[in-house]
This record gives sequence, C-alpha cells and structure tokens, in this order.
Amino acid sequence: MKIIDKTRIANKLISADAPTQLIFFTDLDDTLLDARDYGFEPARSIMGELEARNIPLILLTSKSAAEVFALRDAMGNRHPFGTENGSVIFIPQGYFNAVGVEKPAAATDYEIRRVGLDYETICAMLHRLRDQKGYQFRGFSDMSVAEVIEITGLTQVQAQEAKQRESTEAILWQDSTENLREFEIWLKSQELTLLSGGRFLHVMPAQADKALAMNFLMQSYRSMFPDKIWKTIAFGDGGNDLRMLEAADVGIVVPHVNGYHIQVQNPCRIECDEIASHGWVKAAEWILGLTTGAHKNG
Ligand SMILES: [Mg+2]
Repeated sequence: MKIIDKTRIANKLISADAPTQLIFFTDLDDTLLDARDYGFEPARSIMGELEARNIPLILLTSKSAAEVFALRDAMGNRHPFGTENGSVIFIPQGYFNAVGVEKPAAATDYEIRRVGLDYETICAMLHRLRDQKGYQFRGFSDMSVAEVIEITGLTQVQAQEAKQRESTEAILWQDSTENLREFEIWLKSQELTLLSGGRFLHVMPAQADKALAMNFLMQSYRSMFPDKIWKTIAFGDGGNDLRMLEAADVGIVVPHVNGYHIQVQNPCRIECDEIASHGWVKAAEWILGLTTGAHKNG
C-alpha cells in the first residue's frame, strides 16, 4: 500500500486542539464489495469497529436504491446513503437528530433528496425525443424484466431491482455514432449527461456526482455537530469516484483486478495494492490505527 503522504495525512487527521471526527464515504462495486464475488465478508469486522467508534460509513454507489436496501441491511448499516452516482440521497428519518445518540427509526422511513430530474420525467423526455428524431435506442423503461434478464444475465430479482430506477435511465444505443453525438448535445441542453457503463449508456442529471452528494451530507453533519472537526475519508476505484476522492480529506484508491489505479489528484491519498475488499480493509485499518487515541495527548 502506497501512502502519500503519511505526515501530511497524520497532520490532517490528528488535531492538537480538539478530537477530530472521521467519516467514511465508499463506493461499492470493486471497492468495498469483493471484486470477484461481490461479498463484503473481509470488511465485516472493520465495519463493526467503525460502528463502535461512531464513525459513519456512507455508501455512495451507482446502484439503484432497491439494490442497496438489502445490502445495507446485511451490513447492519444505519447511515444515510446515495444511489445512482449520488443523484438520490436517502437519509433515515430523524437521523440528524439521533446520530450517535440512539438507534434510528424504522429503516423504511427516509427523507429523500433528489438532484435534478426524476426518472419518469427523464424517460418521458427521452421517449418524446425518440418520437421526434427517430433515434434507435431502448431503455430499461422500454424493456420487460425478461428482456433485461436476457441482455444482462441478471437473476429475476436483480433484474426487477435494477429496473427500479429513481433518476438515471440505462439505454442500449442502436443508432449511428453521429446521432449519438447529436443526442449528447441535446442531453447537455436539458442538464442531462451520458455516462458510459460498459454495455449500457446511463442518462443522468448533469448535477449528479458523488462529490456533491458527499458535500451535501457533510453540510448536514457539520451543522448538526458544529463542535466536531469532521474529516472525510473516501474510497473508490472508478472514474465516477474521482471527484469524491479528490474532494475528500483523504482519498483511498482501490485498484482494478488488472492492477490499474485511477489517477487521483489529492496530496493525501492511499493507493492500495490489493483489490476489493482486501485493499479497502487494509487502508481502513491503517486510518483507524493512525487515529486511535491520537487526540488524547493533544
Ligand atoms: Mg466501483
């Protein structure tokens, strides 16, 4: 694991004047979730330690809410989370009155904050444009569950969950590259953007970004706990994590299976050697070790 740079990180996270409060923001796929089996077993004990030390672990993912709910339950995570690249933020009802004091309200009650347009509106706009221009593309909203299964290889339940979108539409582009460029220009004029995700293209609000979601949540934490000195630790592996990793106090970069790290411009960063979940665990352990009891002599 490459730590850049150790002194600078220590100075940032350990304050002589007051105890600092850490908060972790993490991507899921290939970052916290194992790159091979999508499990999180190796991280379970450290997640318990975060909870014991009142360090919130915030999940920020491109997954849909339906996909995150089950995972979050399995992790025993009670904190806010962001889905679809931070375009939707879920805050457990009463969380910012209760965090660190008592357990939250029923997990089904959330305050939901959406950035930009909602899914139905985005789909309606796309369908209208397709009617006008004759573009050839199919989105999840056009497809049956069976069709999604056929294209993606997901299970019945996964396909149903993947279809429950809040603010991003996955499309299969079946038209020319020239028309795709025209389509992108139109998206931009509508404050929408296109993110390539392998087989599908994702149409999403231009304002959706994990860094903005992180900043939004930090405003709430800071205003709720003005006496604490909050320090953000962000974990990610992909291009959609980049701005979050650069905006955090410490950015932790998990490599892809082929060893490739994304290039992050943050003077305080850790480049893990190991892929998810082990790289995540090692870096988290180092951060926790660095800050254990660190303020007591301050
Ligand atoms: Mg990822």
